[in-house]
Amino acid sequence: MSRWDVPDHPVIVACERTGYPPGMEPKAYTCPICGEECETVYLNFVREPVGCDVCLTAKDVYDYYEEE
Ligand SMILES: [Zn+2]
Repeated sequence: MSRWDVPDHPVIVACERTGYPPGMEPKAYTCPICGEECETVYLNFVREPVGCDVCLTAKDVYDYYEEE
């Protein structure tokens, strides 16, 4: 047991868990709606996020009105 064994030090724990010290983790860019990692976030006309390429689907306008 050396004096360097401090197993519960939060920096050590974070390094072992993520490979990075706290605050140095690569930022995860995720959809604000569904939380998935995504390529594109879509905004409405007031620039509020409405979804992303993962959780949004496009629909033919005719189908939107005419499908049950
Ligand atoms: Zn999404």
